[in-house]
Amino acid sequence: DGAMAAGSREGWRGPERAGAGGVALLGVVPGAPSCPHGPALLFVKTSQDKEEGRRFYACSACRDRKDCNFFQWEDEKVSETRLAAREEYNKNRQPSFTHGQNVERYKDFVLLPLSKRRFCQECQQLLLPAEWENHSDHQFLCDISTAQLRSPSQLLYPLENKKTNAQYLFADRSCQFLLDLIVDLGFRRVLSVGTPRLHEMIQSKASQEEDFRVRSLLLDIDFRYSQFYTEDEFCHYNMFNHHFFDGEAARETCRKFLCQDNGERVIMVTDPPFGGLVEALASSFKKLMAMWKKTEKEGDKNQEMPIFWIFPYFFESRILEFFPSFSMMDYQVDYDNHALYKHGKTGRRQSPVRIFTNITPSMIVLPVEEGYRFCALCQRYVSSGNQHCELCNSCTSKDGRQWKHCVLCQKCVKPSWFHCNNCNCCALQNHTCEKTDAGCFVCGKAGHKRSTCPSLSRT
Ligand code: SAH
Ligand code: ZN
Ligand code: ZN
Ligand code: ZN
Ligand code: ZN
Repeated sequence: DGAMAAGSREGWRGPERAGAGGVALLGVVPGAPSCPHGPALLFVKTSQDKEEGRRFYACSACRDRKDCNFFQWEDEKVSETRLAAREEYNKNRQPSFTHGQNVERYKDFVLLPLSKRRFCQECQQLLLPAEWENHSDHQFLCDISTAQLRSPSQLLYPLENKKTNAQYLFADRSCQFLLDLIVDLGFRRVLSVGTPRLHEMIQSKASQEEDFRVRSLLLDIDFRYSQFYTEDEFCHYNMFNHHFFDGEAARETCRKFLCQDNGERVIMVTDPPFGGLVEALASSFKKLMAMWKKTEKEGDKNQEMPIFWIFPYFFESRILEFFPSFSMMDYQVDYDNHALYKHGKTGRRQSPVRIFTNITPSMIVLPVEEGYRFCALCQRYVSSGNQHCELCNSCTSKDGRQWKHCVLCQKCVKPSWFHCNNCNCCALQNHTCEKTDAGCFVCGKAGHKRSTCPSLSRT
């Protein structure tokens, strides 16, 4: 199915999509044991024959056992010695410098003349002259300029571990679009959750342009960023379990940031790894929203903190399950270091990544010069190829191509699909009618694959 077939960024099936013999997420529970990534999440093994599966804890952040092999049955007795060993292990796995130490090091670093400013590529660390010797057989960059220090996402290599911490950086065009949109909507503070490039664009502008008033706080699990930002600009945070690694002080920094000026003019922007665990992300985002809600607001007490959640369109139904007030925008978010999701030289590779937001869709103006238009009936901007279907009374395309209405399915479907009387739904012409035992990537139900998931074209 062409450009849209690119499944997730990591091709990983989230455990909360329990198929037969799968694993389901139960969530963050009080008293959960911790791994180096904070409290572990509780899961349950589901099996076809047994009603109730066995519950276990596993690392919240790492999909790959190689990155964190934490595992514990819920009913397992853990001896005092093992607990002590685990605590010791967790401590040893923490970064060698604290955030505070990194801030001090940065202050020293910027005082150095250009010729003494080195960055170790192997250790991904700014070096002070006294440390050069220890890194003498490492590759390093010299003459680190102020401009480079303002763009750490260019200096650091993107973590490319497929399963755990795949970093996909916004293409400049998309990042600029997001920032312009944020400014045009009148926001003054941005809680950047897993969006280091947006954060650095904001911070960099703020330090260079006097009349630019937007500020950003970055929450990210990538501790390398603590070398470039103070405790008021960056919190080491795990968005799968809402864990602040630096404890109460960092949590308070975040709370203050959200609640400043009565919590007005603040927006949260997040671009999480696409590996799944939508439910865990939603639960953390609700906690961040609750932090914001605690402020005394005039008027509507049921207001929600404005959010841009950047995620692939095929997660639409999953996200709406947790955030019914959200809608999906047609804007295609592009990335620098993802071959599939960036503009090609000839013709564009269509990105499946979209913006989900609780801001009124008509307020989200998409660039006409990039082929978006306003649909007066839907009251939102849509892709130029997205035709308004009179039968569905909506612009139904999810992927930018024109979809076609199937009278039997009573909805619009992908242009490449045909109605199959066997399956009683639309599918690719060469699909196999037999049921598949593996659960669907999108909805988790058995009987069909992602490409024919009925929830994708839900209207
Ligand atoms: N497009 C964004 C980057 C998105 S990549 C930009 O250009 O700014 C996903 C980001 O989420 C990365 O920065 C990664 O470090 C971060 N991340 C991955 N797992 C995380 C976790 N468990 N908690 C918090 N941040 C995480
Ligand atoms: Zn872990
Ligand atoms: Zn329309
Ligand atoms: Zn239709
Ligand atoms: Zn059909």
